[in-house]
Amino acid sequence: MANGRDIDNHILIAPGSKAPLKGRDPGDDTLFPNRETAEASTAGDAKAIDALQDRLWAERKRALLVVLQGIDTSGKDGTVRGVFNACGPLGVSVTSFGRPSEEELAHDYLWRVHAAAPKKGMIGVFNRSYYEDVLVVKVRKLAPADVVDRRYEQINAFERHLAENGVVLLKFMLHISKDEQRERLQERLDDPAKHWKFNPSDLEDRALWADYHEAYQTMLERCSTAHAPWRVVPADKKWRRNAIIASVVRRTLEDMAPAYPKPDWKPSDFTIA
Ligand code: AMP
Ligand code: MG
Repeated sequence: MANGRDIDNHILIAPGSKAPLKGRDPGDDTLFPNRETAEASTAGDAKAIDALQDRLWAERKRALLVVLQGIDTSGKDGTVRGVFNACGPLGVSVTSFGRPSEEELAHDYLWRVHAAAPKKGMIGVFNRSYYEDVLVVKVRKLAPADVVDRRYEQINAFERHLAENGVVLLKFMLHISKDEQRERLQERLDDPAKHWKFNPSDLEDRALWADYHEAYQTMLERCSTAHAPWRVVPADKKWRRNAIIASVVRRTLEDMAPAYPKPDWKPSDFTIA
Protein backbone atom coordinates (compact mmCIF):
# COMPACT_ATOMS: atom_id res chain seq x y z
CA MET A 1 0.00 0.00 0.00
CA ALA A 2 1.19 3.46 -0.85
CA ASN A 3 2.38 5.47 2.12
CA GLY A 4 2.35 9.23 2.39
CA ARG A 5 5.80 9.74 0.86
CA ASP A 6 5.06 7.50 -2.13
CA ILE A 7 1.86 9.40 -2.73
CA ASP A 8 3.69 12.71 -2.65
CA ASN A 9 6.39 11.50 -5.01
CA HIS A 10 3.64 10.64 -7.44
CA ILE A 11 1.57 13.80 -7.33
CA LEU A 12 3.95 16.64 -6.37
CA ILE A 13 4.84 19.17 -9.05
CA ALA A 14 8.48 20.04 -8.56
CA PRO A 15 9.19 23.77 -8.72
CA GLY A 16 10.32 24.68 -12.22
CA SER A 17 8.62 21.72 -13.93
CA LYS A 18 7.77 22.29 -17.56
CA ALA A 19 4.33 21.23 -18.86
CA PRO A 20 3.55 19.32 -15.66
CA LEU A 21 0.19 18.01 -16.89
CA LYS A 22 1.78 16.28 -19.85
CA GLY A 23 1.65 12.52 -19.38
CA ARG A 24 -0.55 12.76 -16.29
CA ASP A 25 -3.58 10.53 -16.54
CA PRO A 26 -6.70 11.50 -14.56
CA GLY A 27 -7.50 7.77 -14.44
CA ASP A 28 -4.04 6.76 -13.18
CA ASP A 29 -4.59 3.84 -10.81
CA THR A 30 -1.05 3.53 -9.43
CA LEU A 31 -2.19 4.88 -6.08
CA PHE A 32 -5.06 3.09 -4.36
CA PRO A 33 -5.92 0.63 -7.14
CA ASN A 34 -8.59 -0.98 -4.96
CA ARG A 35 -11.81 0.80 -3.99
CA GLU A 36 -12.45 -0.94 -0.67
CA THR A 37 -8.91 -0.32 0.53
CA ALA A 38 -9.14 3.30 -0.57
CA GLU A 39 -12.39 3.87 1.31
CA ALA A 40 -11.05 2.25 4.47
CA SER A 41 -7.91 4.35 4.24
CA THR A 42 -9.94 7.56 3.81
CA ALA A 43 -12.10 6.76 6.84
CA GLY A 44 -9.04 6.12 9.01
CA ASP A 45 -7.33 9.28 7.79
CA ALA A 46 -10.47 11.38 8.35
CA LYS A 47 -10.55 10.30 12.02
CA ALA A 48 -6.83 10.99 12.42
CA ILE A 49 -7.28 14.44 10.84
CA ASP A 50 -9.95 15.21 13.44
CA ALA A 51 -7.66 14.22 16.32
CA LEU A 52 -4.80 16.28 14.89
CA GLN A 53 -7.11 19.25 14.35
CA ASP A 54 -7.97 19.15 18.05
CA ARG A 55 -4.29 19.54 18.91
CA LEU A 56 -3.82 22.25 16.30
CA TRP A 57 -6.63 24.25 17.93
CA ALA A 58 -5.32 23.68 21.46
CA GLU A 59 -1.86 24.80 20.36
CA ARG A 60 -3.19 27.80 18.42
CA LYS A 61 0.11 28.67 16.79
CA ARG A 62 -0.34 27.56 13.20
CA ALA A 63 -3.00 26.97 10.58
CA LEU A 64 -3.42 24.67 7.60
CA LEU A 65 -4.85 25.98 4.34
CA VAL A 66 -6.09 23.41 1.84
CA VAL A 67 -6.67 24.88 -1.62
CA LEU A 68 -8.91 22.87 -3.96
CA GLN A 69 -8.84 23.83 -7.62
CA GLY A 70 -10.36 22.05 -10.57
CA ILE A 71 -12.77 22.60 -13.41
CA ASP A 72 -16.54 22.16 -13.02
CA THR A 73 -17.50 18.70 -11.69
CA SER A 74 -13.91 17.90 -10.71
CA GLY A 75 -15.09 17.02 -7.19
CA LYS A 76 -14.24 19.98 -4.98
CA ASP A 77 -17.44 19.75 -2.91
CA GLY A 78 -17.14 15.96 -2.70
CA THR A 79 -13.59 16.26 -1.41
CA VAL A 80 -14.68 18.57 1.40
CA ARG A 81 -17.39 16.09 2.35
CA GLY A 82 -15.23 13.00 1.98
CA VAL A 83 -12.07 14.17 3.73
CA PHE A 84 -13.24 16.51 6.49
CA ASN A 85 -16.48 14.75 7.47
CA ALA A 86 -15.07 13.48 10.75
CA CYS A 87 -13.80 16.91 11.81
CA GLY A 88 -15.61 18.89 14.43
CA PRO A 89 -17.29 21.81 12.64
CA LEU A 90 -15.61 24.33 14.97
CA GLY A 91 -12.17 23.52 13.65
CA VAL A 92 -12.67 23.72 9.90
CA SER A 93 -13.69 26.77 7.88
CA VAL A 94 -14.71 26.19 4.28
CA THR A 95 -14.83 29.14 1.89
CA SER A 96 -16.20 28.88 -1.64
CA PHE A 97 -15.01 31.48 -4.10
CA GLY A 98 -17.51 32.38 -6.80
CA ARG A 99 -17.82 35.34 -9.09
CA PRO A 100 -16.63 38.39 -7.14
CA SER A 101 -19.26 40.80 -5.84
CA GLU A 102 -19.20 44.48 -6.74
CA GLU A 103 -17.57 45.23 -3.39
CA GLU A 104 -14.92 42.56 -3.99
CA LEU A 105 -14.23 43.82 -7.50
CA ALA A 106 -13.68 47.29 -6.06
CA HIS A 107 -10.69 45.86 -4.15
CA ASP A 108 -7.58 44.04 -5.32
CA TYR A 109 -8.26 40.37 -6.07
CA LEU A 110 -6.50 39.06 -2.94
CA TRP A 111 -8.55 41.20 -0.55
CA ARG A 112 -11.39 38.72 -0.15
CA VAL A 113 -8.90 35.87 0.00
CA HIS A 114 -6.74 37.18 2.81
CA ALA A 115 -9.86 37.89 4.86
CA ALA A 116 -10.84 34.22 4.53
CA ALA A 117 -7.42 32.80 5.45
CA PRO A 118 -7.67 30.44 8.44
CA LYS A 119 -6.75 31.80 11.83
CA LYS A 120 -4.23 30.01 14.02
CA GLY A 121 -5.56 26.68 15.17
CA MET A 122 -7.89 26.22 12.20
CA ILE A 123 -7.94 24.18 9.05
CA GLY A 124 -9.18 26.38 6.20
CA VAL A 125 -10.44 24.86 2.98
CA PHE A 126 -10.77 26.95 -0.17
CA ASN A 127 -13.29 25.57 -2.64
CA ARG A 128 -11.86 27.37 -5.67
CA SER A 129 -9.51 30.17 -4.77
CA TYR A 130 -7.46 33.15 -5.90
CA TYR A 131 -6.21 30.87 -8.68
CA GLU A 132 -9.49 31.62 -10.49
CA ASP A 133 -7.86 35.00 -11.08
CA VAL A 134 -5.35 33.32 -13.40
CA LEU A 135 -7.78 30.66 -14.71
CA VAL A 136 -11.33 31.79 -15.52
CA VAL A 137 -10.16 35.40 -15.63
CA LYS A 138 -7.45 34.50 -18.14
CA VAL A 139 -9.53 32.14 -20.30
CA ARG A 140 -12.58 34.42 -20.39
CA LYS A 141 -10.40 37.51 -20.75
CA LEU A 142 -11.99 39.23 -17.75
CA ALA A 143 -8.78 41.23 -17.23
CA PRO A 144 -6.03 42.36 -19.64
CA ALA A 145 -3.31 39.76 -20.34
CA ASP A 146 -0.53 41.81 -18.74
CA VAL A 147 -2.56 42.20 -15.54
CA VAL A 148 -3.07 38.43 -15.34
CA ASP A 149 0.58 37.80 -16.16
CA ARG A 150 1.76 39.77 -13.13
CA ARG A 151 -0.46 37.76 -10.82
CA TYR A 152 1.61 34.57 -10.76
CA GLU A 153 4.44 36.29 -8.92
CA GLN A 154 1.99 38.21 -6.75
CA ILE A 155 0.39 34.91 -5.75
CA ASN A 156 3.78 33.36 -4.97
CA ALA A 157 4.60 36.35 -2.77
CA PHE A 158 1.20 36.16 -1.04
CA GLU A 159 1.68 32.47 -0.33
CA ARG A 160 5.18 33.09 0.97
CA HIS A 161 3.73 35.71 3.28
CA LEU A 162 1.21 33.19 4.62
CA ALA A 163 3.84 30.47 4.94
CA GLU A 164 6.17 32.75 6.89
CA ASN A 165 3.30 33.62 9.21
CA GLY A 166 2.35 30.15 10.34
CA VAL A 167 0.07 28.97 7.55
CA VAL A 168 0.99 25.66 5.94
CA LEU A 169 -0.37 25.49 2.38
CA LEU A 170 -1.58 22.38 0.61
CA LYS A 171 -2.71 22.96 -2.96
CA PHE A 172 -4.54 20.25 -4.86
CA MET A 173 -5.56 20.37 -8.49
CA LEU A 174 -8.37 17.86 -9.02
CA HIS A 175 -7.55 16.48 -12.44
CA ILE A 176 -10.42 14.88 -14.38
CA SER A 177 -10.70 13.85 -18.01
CA LYS A 178 -13.04 15.42 -20.54
CA ASP A 179 -14.98 12.14 -20.79
CA GLU A 180 -15.47 11.99 -17.05
CA GLN A 181 -16.73 15.57 -17.07
CA ARG A 182 -19.28 14.67 -19.74
CA GLU A 183 -20.64 11.90 -17.53
CA ARG A 184 -20.82 14.07 -14.46
CA LEU A 185 -22.54 16.91 -16.32
CA GLN A 186 -24.99 14.41 -17.84
CA GLU A 187 -25.79 13.14 -14.32
CA ARG A 188 -26.63 16.69 -13.31
CA LEU A 189 -29.14 16.83 -16.17
CA ASP A 190 -30.58 13.36 -15.54
CA ASP A 191 -31.00 13.52 -11.77
CA PRO A 192 -33.56 16.07 -10.52
CA ALA A 193 -31.71 16.19 -7.19
CA LYS A 194 -28.66 17.44 -9.07
CA HIS A 195 -30.35 20.01 -11.32
CA TRP A 196 -29.40 22.80 -8.94
CA LYS A 197 -25.73 22.04 -9.57
CA PHE A 198 -26.06 22.49 -13.31
CA ASN A 199 -25.26 25.84 -14.80
CA PRO A 200 -25.50 26.39 -18.58
CA SER A 201 -22.26 28.37 -18.36
CA ASP A 202 -20.54 25.09 -17.40
CA LEU A 203 -21.03 24.08 -21.05
CA GLU A 204 -19.38 27.26 -22.26
CA ASP A 205 -16.42 26.49 -20.02
CA ARG A 206 -16.38 22.89 -21.32
CA ALA A 207 -16.14 24.24 -24.85
CA LEU A 208 -13.03 26.10 -23.70
CA TRP A 209 -11.44 22.87 -22.39
CA ALA A 210 -8.15 23.32 -24.24
CA ASP A 211 -7.78 26.91 -23.03
CA TYR A 212 -8.40 25.88 -19.44
CA HIS A 213 -5.91 23.04 -19.79
CA GLU A 214 -3.32 25.54 -20.95
CA ALA A 215 -4.14 27.98 -18.14
CA TYR A 216 -3.85 25.20 -15.54
CA GLN A 217 -0.57 24.14 -17.03
CA THR A 218 0.83 27.68 -16.75
CA MET A 219 -0.48 27.99 -13.19
CA LEU A 220 1.32 24.76 -12.21
CA GLU A 221 4.53 25.85 -13.94
CA ARG A 222 4.64 29.26 -12.37
CA CYS A 223 3.14 28.74 -8.92
CA SER A 224 4.56 25.45 -7.72
CA THR A 225 7.11 26.72 -5.21
CA ALA A 226 9.10 25.25 -2.36
CA HIS A 227 6.89 27.00 0.20
CA ALA A 228 3.63 26.10 -1.56
CA PRO A 229 3.98 23.30 -4.14
CA TRP A 230 1.08 22.06 -6.26
CA ARG A 231 -0.15 18.49 -6.19
CA VAL A 232 -2.08 17.08 -9.14
CA VAL A 233 -4.59 14.44 -8.06
CA PRO A 234 -5.87 11.84 -10.53
CA ALA A 235 -9.56 12.47 -9.84
CA ASP A 236 -11.61 10.41 -12.31
CA LYS A 237 -12.49 8.09 -9.41
CA LYS A 238 -13.98 9.92 -6.45
CA TRP A 239 -12.87 7.33 -3.89
CA ARG A 240 -9.28 7.41 -5.13
CA ARG A 241 -9.24 11.23 -5.10
CA ASN A 242 -10.48 11.27 -1.49
CA ALA A 243 -8.00 8.62 -0.37
CA ILE A 244 -5.05 10.49 -1.88
CA ILE A 245 -6.03 13.86 -0.46
CA ALA A 246 -6.94 12.51 2.99
CA SER A 247 -3.59 10.78 3.17
CA VAL A 248 -1.62 13.92 2.27
CA VAL A 249 -3.62 16.10 4.67
CA ARG A 250 -3.08 13.61 7.48
CA ARG A 251 0.64 13.30 6.88
CA THR A 252 1.05 17.07 6.64
CA LEU A 253 -0.65 17.51 10.02
CA GLU A 254 1.48 14.71 11.47
CA ASP A 255 4.60 16.49 10.22
CA MET A 256 3.37 19.74 11.77
CA ALA A 257 3.06 17.74 15.01
CA PRO A 258 0.80 20.13 16.90
CA ALA A 259 1.09 19.64 20.66
CA TYR A 260 -1.29 20.27 23.53
CA PRO A 261 0.08 23.18 25.57
CA LYS A 262 1.37 22.35 29.03
CA PRO A 263 -0.77 24.09 31.69
CA ASP A 264 1.01 26.08 34.40
CA TRP A 265 -0.97 24.18 37.09
CA LYS A 266 -1.29 20.58 38.19
CA PRO A 267 -4.63 18.76 38.25
CA SER A 268 -3.84 17.84 41.87
CA ASP A 269 -3.84 21.57 42.78
CA PHE A 270 -7.63 21.53 42.54
CA THR A 271 -10.53 19.88 44.28
CA ILE A 272 -13.95 20.15 42.73
CA ALA A 273 -16.60 20.50 45.42
P1 AMP B 1 -19.41 27.09 -8.67
O1 AMP B 1 -18.08 26.63 -8.17
O2 AMP B 1 -20.07 26.10 -9.57
O3 AMP B 1 -20.31 27.58 -7.56
O4 AMP B 1 -19.18 28.35 -9.61
C1 AMP B 1 -18.46 29.45 -9.21
C2 AMP B 1 -18.16 30.25 -10.45
O5 AMP B 1 -17.50 31.43 -10.05
C3 AMP B 1 -17.27 29.52 -11.42
O6 AMP B 1 -17.80 29.59 -12.70
C4 AMP B 1 -15.96 30.29 -11.32
O7 AMP B 1 -15.26 30.28 -12.52
C5 AMP B 1 -16.45 31.68 -10.95
N1 AMP B 1 -15.39 32.46 -10.31
C6 AMP B 1 -14.69 32.15 -9.19
N2 AMP B 1 -13.77 33.09 -8.94
C7 AMP B 1 -13.86 33.99 -9.91
C8 AMP B 1 -13.16 35.21 -10.22
N3 AMP B 1 -12.17 35.66 -9.44
N4 AMP B 1 -13.54 35.90 -11.31
C9 AMP B 1 -14.53 35.45 -12.09
N5 AMP B 1 -15.23 34.32 -11.87
C10 AMP B 1 -14.89 33.60 -10.79
MG1 MG C 1 -20.04 25.75 -11.80
